[in-house]
Amino acid sequence: MTKHFDLLCIGGGSGGVATANRAASYGARVALVESGRMGGTCVNVGCVPKKIMWTAGQFAHAFEDAAGFGFSVTPHEFHWSRLKAARDIYVANLNGGYERNLRKNGVEIIGGRAKLTGPKSVEVAGETITADHILIAVGGRPKVPAIPGAELGITSDGFFELAEQPRRLAVVGAGYIAVEIGGLMRALGSEVTQCLRRDHFLHNFDRSLRTSLMEHMQADGIRFATHFTPARLERIGRELWLHGEDGTKQGPFDAVMWAIGREPVTDALGLDAAGVATDERGCVPTDAFQDTNVAGIHAVGDVTGHDELTPVAIAAGRRLADRLFDGQSDRRLAYENIATVVFSHPPIGTVGLTEHDALARFGPDTQVYETRFGPMSHAFVQRMVKTTMKLVVAGPEQRIVGCHVIGPGADEMMQGFAVAVRMGATKRDFDDTVAIHPTAAEELVTMKTARPAQADPG
Ligand code: FAD
Ligand code: NDP
Repeated sequence: MTKHFDLLCIGGGSGGVATANRAASYGARVALVESGRMGGTCVNVGCVPKKIMWTAGQFAHAFEDAAGFGFSVTPHEFHWSRLKAARDIYVANLNGGYERNLRKNGVEIIGGRAKLTGPKSVEVAGETITADHILIAVGGRPKVPAIPGAELGITSDGFFELAEQPRRLAVVGAGYIAVEIGGLMRALGSEVTQCLRRDHFLHNFDRSLRTSLMEHMQADGIRFATHFTPARLERIGRELWLHGEDGTKQGPFDAVMWAIGREPVTDALGLDAAGVATDERGCVPTDAFQDTNVAGIHAVGDVTGHDELTPVAIAAGRRLADRLFDGQSDRRLAYENIATVVFSHPPIGTVGLTEHDALARFGPDTQVYETRFGPMSHAFVQRMVKTTMKLVVAGPEQRIVGCHVIGPGADEMMQGFAVAVRMGATKRDFDDTVAIHPTAAEELVTMKTARPAQADPG
């Protein structure tokens, strides 16, 4: 007999799991189909293992920095294989925890690859399952460039499988993954070359953050090959060489990692059979309520193609379940002012508009408060470590429309400020907030002098 559910979630990643659990909490009959490891990208090959590696990089820096605070620092050895083993166990425990939690909430877990066969039906391993609502939460996978020899490189998925630490690593790309993995690998002792098509990275981020991070990464010894677009990857013996479109080459490397963006996993999903439309990237567009063009079929998370972040997938999914199964008819995710952290060394925390975008939106009234200082936590360290903070304010009431920080602790600083920005805080509200001393964060509530906002050159 065909199984029927109120909700069938395709994909057991951040979005699918959150939606399934929330829907089940309202008494809906829910099934979730997952073809791989439970938890999806974030748990298995994303946020979680990345944050563990980033933390290892922080320790590497901390050992070095301790000398300035009076410690005799003896040479220490880093064992990649020990960290990988501990990380793999940590992730496996999370896989189990996710499954147990879903079962505890009454969600039926179906292992296998789902394919839509109609607007209310899905096939998994030859079995047909029907549902009143189907959620597409299949996420994405790393892109690989269509150039000769690309298969000799790895992606972020392959990075987490590396049994040994590459001594010489090339990272191709200019987004979150490139700067995060490049930075942590340098902190752990690898020689890192980062290949950029332009002269900068993180181009959607505020200029001050980009500039400061580039300075830090260069000071840490990362080499940048700018205006370099790979045309071919070649193996000579055990070594890899990257050849550029301009005839130059970079190398030799022990590993080359592509970090050039991600694409949705929609190619074999049977979207045509259900009549679900996709855009030119293969993503599944939705309206503001996560509804696709087909009634009863919804989508959340990376597959929708914007704000590819775990908390966004979770928030969109939970709100969808609130609407479908708890009668909260207007419930939906507002995609403005989503805070984000880049786990670089030092980290970036940011929420709201860049200086450039705020100027374009609010006009010449837009002003900027900015400060750059050496944080006390790093007063005695040899490495160059600076904190840069910027508040972008708009209109006569000086509403904070952008808050940008790079420096030690920026990752943990931003969540609270994101609440303030979301609530519409003004510069006056920041000024009236008593500082916490001595911290770096206090600088965000003590900035005095404003200047007019400027557009990014070029
Ligand atoms: P996913 O988590 O990708 O889950 C989709 C699931 O669907 C997968 O488990 C897949 O196996 C399954 N699936 C696919 N097709 C089918 C099918 N046909 N049938 C059954 N199952 C299927 N975000 C942050 O917020 N913070 C971070 O620090 C961060 N770091 C990251 C680091 C890296 C290296 C990467 C790659 C990503 C990172 N992200 C981070 C992004 C974050 O991981 C994603 O935004 C998030 O996982 C998206 O969740 P999702 O549910 O849309 O998709
Ligand atoms: P991104 O989309 O962030 O960046 C990829 C960049 O690589 C592009 O912007 C582009 O920059 C460059 N690029 C594209 N094609 C090529 C090419 N052929 N050759 C060289 N460079 C190229 O992708 P990521 O893969 O870094 O990350 C995917 C998403 O995952 C992120 O957008 C983010 O949403 C999420 N993520 C979040 C993290 C976090 O929250 N901390 C961490 C990691 C990922 P340009 O045009 O300047 O060349």
